[in-house]
Amino acid sequence: MAYECDICNVLGRNNNDIIESDMVECVDSHVMCRKHVSKFIEKPFNYQRKYMAKNECYLKKLYCPICNLKEIAYFHYVRYIERILKKTHSEICDEIKLKFKTYKKFYGFIFDVKQKKTKK
Ligand SMILES: [Zn+2]
Ligand SMILES: [Zn+2]
Repeated sequence: MAYECDICNVLGRNNNDIIESDMVECVDSHVMCRKHVSKFIEKPFNYQRKYMAKNECYLKKLYCPICNLKEIAYFHYVRYIERILKKTHSEICDEIKLKFKTYKKFYGFIFDVKQKKTKK
């Protein structure tokens, strides 16, 4: 399975090899593109011992942008929206199904695509 970035959701190029995928995992299991870490520590990140813990496999919490609230993981962002709306994932899904009826109408709404009036 390809690694997926918790922040931008991009998939790693290389299955099973996180370094080849240009990604990194922190000790708290956050997986992210190396570029997010580089931005956070403001220098190129090269899997150096000072940044890594546990046999140099995992990024220390201190250098993880998610652990330090410098970046927000996408699934945390979604959970936050659910909390704000005071609705669960399935309640929101049911609401979407009721409100739009078709995928096309739903897609049109979320991406602001103007619906062409078509004759039935
Ligand atoms: Zn990313
Ligand atoms: Zn982390």
